[in-house]
Amino acid sequence: MQTLTAAVHVQTVESAHTSGVYPKRDLTIVRGQGAYLWDDQGRRYIDCAGGQGAANLGHSHPAIAEAISQQARTLISCPEIFYNDVRAAYLAELTAAAPGELNRVFLSNSGAEAIEAALKFARISTGRREIVAAMRGFHGRTMGALSATWNKKYRGPFMPLVPDFTHIPYNNIAALEAAVSDATAAVLLEPVQGEGGVRPADPAFLQSARDLCDASGALLILDEIQTGFGRTGTLFAVEQYDIQPDILALAKSIAGGLPMGATLLGPSVGELPRMSHGSTFGGNPLAAAAARAALRVMQEEQLPQRAAHLGALMKTRLSALKSPLIREVRGLGLMIGIELKIKVGPVLRALQERGVLALPAGATVLRLLPPLVITQEDMDHVIDVISEVLAQ
Ligand SMILES: *Cc1c(COP(=O)(O)O)cnc(C)c1O
Repeated sequence: MQTLTAAVHVQTVESAHTSGVYPKRDLTIVRGQGAYLWDDQGRRYIDCAGGQGAANLGHSHPAIAEAISQQARTLISCPEIFYNDVRAAYLAELTAAAPGELNRVFLSNSGAEAIEAALKFARISTGRREIVAAMRGFHGRTMGALSATWNKKYRGPFMPLVPDFTHIPYNNIAALEAAVSDATAAVLLEPVQGEGGVRPADPAFLQSARDLCDASGALLILDEIQTGFGRTGTLFAVEQYDIQPDILALAKSIAGGLPMGATLLGPSVGELPRMSHGSTFGGNPLAAAAARAALRVMQEEQLPQRAAHLGALMKTRLSALKSPLIREVRGLGLMIGIELKIKVGPVLRALQERGVLALPAGATVLRLLPPLVITQEDMDHVIDVISEVLAQ
């Protein structure tokens, strides 16, 4: 293992044995703290990739580390055929924090799984098959979640997918009206499209989705896997819209960076038949302990409020940049998209050279998902670096 500390060797070994499905950056990350990451050369980066949305609390938060290590010494696995103290406490705390009457939860291990569960529960609860999703929507890469995902690059090679999914243009109320009928099991939407380019929903669009679901007996599923857990300035983005979902899908940051997905169910979802779904790792005490700590940190450190405050400042400063290469600045809280008039790839590389890591959201959108603990000073520095890179 000692040779693995040699910088080049890590990348050679990983390249030789990884599946190959990921485009890799020329960077080996070995450590994180708060909003910083360090590479194997000891160089520090400001992390606006934020674990692709899994690092809202910042890296290596001491409360998460402590909860994980304590629980690891107590009990790691305990399938849901048994009751468990940590899981019970987490379920009570999560449902108390969730909006409305989302009082039952199916726990899993990823975003895609949270969506798979939502789709299955919507079908079994309504006895209907059709799912209406949105163009540019992203819901994951397993076969059901992929059927709801729009991007042809993800879907194309895997046809045929699950039947009876339709995609309507996001924020288009007339198209939604035309698509929803009494054959619709569910309408599935992100409150802010993440992968699709950081596009917030119009309040009227989500309201009409709610109304159409009510009128047709369909369920409204909100995918808050990326927008949830403080990212957009409230614990859940839906709190900024005057509606309630029937099903809420969560993952990414909810367990402080450990893998966990959660599918929350409201009263309009009927009683689920025994054995109709399941997961070996779902609700394991280790992830539940991390998730309890994550929720506590989120509330104690008032991270949603922080995201609202810093996000507003950042959007104002970015909008003031007046670079001829910026088409539009969009977002909600600390979920920020900068639509460029050029390809984002070279911009990401130039940012990385200057110590800032960020994400794309499509070919021309620069996406920033910094940990919500980022300081205003570091955020200002990120904006200066973006401005510098775009000026070149
Ligand atoms: C990341 C993401 C998913 C998929 O989550 P995985 O954990 O990668 O399976 C689904 N929906 C949205 C909105 C996401 O951002």
